[in-house]
Amino acid sequence: MSPSANDRSPENHSPLASNLLLSLAITEMSVRDSRAGTGQPQSVLLTDPASDIMSLAAPPESMKVGLVYDPVYLQHDTGQHPENASRLVGITRLLEESGMKERLTEIPPEPASEGQLLLVHSAQHISRVQRVAESGGGWFDADTVASAGSYEAALHAAGGLSKAAEAVMTGVLDSAFALVRPPGHHATATRAMGFCLFNNIAVAAKHLQQSSNVSRILIVDFDVHHGNGTQETFYRDPGVLYFSTHQYPFYPGTGAIEEAGEGEGKGTTINVPLPAWCGDDEYYRVFQEILVPAAQRFQPQIILVSAGYDAHWADSISLMQLTVAGYTRLVLILQQLATELCHGRLVFTLEGGYNVEALAHSVRATLAVLLGDSEFEDPMPRPSHPRKAPELGAMLEQIRALHELS
Ligand SMILES: [Zn+2]
Repeated sequence: MSPSANDRSPENHSPLASNLLLSLAITEMSVRDSRAGTGQPQSVLLTDPASDIMSLAAPPESMKVGLVYDPVYLQHDTGQHPENASRLVGITRLLEESGMKERLTEIPPEPASEGQLLLVHSAQHISRVQRVAESGGGWFDADTVASAGSYEAALHAAGGLSKAAEAVMTGVLDSAFALVRPPGHHATATRAMGFCLFNNIAVAAKHLQQSSNVSRILIVDFDVHHGNGTQETFYRDPGVLYFSTHQYPFYPGTGAIEEAGEGEGKGTTINVPLPAWCGDDEYYRVFQEILVPAAQRFQPQIILVSAGYDAHWADSISLMQLTVAGYTRLVLILQQLATELCHGRLVFTLEGGYNVEALAHSVRATLAVLLGDSEFEDPMPRPSHPRKAPELGAMLEQIRALHELS
């Protein structure tokens, strides 16, 4: 029997006493008319003012939320490629039409310096990206292309996210979202791949380690693909806990449970390779049973999020069934972890997400959570013919045992 929306009791999903408050608080978020078809907008409540527990966990009012955006990101011209400029055009249009944009604090991006990029990438890789763009563009592999404007866009993507992370770390902002492209989490030290040129989140994390002397950074990657480049960057670094949920087996092939870090970094990589057709309940359960105790043990000083929205059911690149409401629950968990563990410091960066409507509404919902809103509309709530979700119990037990999450 597949889990239902009514089967979200904390007893089912959170055996840890330390998780109970968080679990109860999240459970208070209710979905009205959750059986609505795809054509029926659904109103999603983000908080329950009657709940003492929710108010304890809720962030303070008047959250100052930053948004990194600049038209330079549209200059990464990929043509008919799935990762194209219409993604950001669709998101920014919705943020403007919904009045959300004016509630955010603009963070004008600056280009990453060569010194910042060198914290993650080889000099050869940086100059190759520059050279390909300056020659008018070209392909790095079968998936990954650059145009004449891609080098500038990529510099501003890594630099914009780094600036946002620093602003949140230093308390100038409460939280932030970097609406950037090209995305970054597949890019390795020496290679552009998977639509990514520079690894934005790895550069930002390294920048924080160096500029703000941050010693414990949690990177959560809920893109439907495994962030191989991010994992590789921090595989031996005990100061960065990298947690990823991803469809598996799937591109790029990495992200098995056994990939758990090496040397001093052993244990600070946590992979949750998910079978196809996972939906809201499965992701929620993974976050509660694996991420929450791991984060509570790690005690991060800031949480960075590789926010890919390509596990949405309407996204044709993957075989997952998340809804916007499902993403919202995950973001609420992240916000509550940040509130509990690191003064609310939470920074999102855009990775994947290729159905522009689902992507735009998911980003808007994420920002609604960061702003402390109590409700939002999801115009495309559920697939009309959902597939049976897989059972994750044995796999989660294996991950909990490997990482000694009791
Ligand atoms: Zn992806």
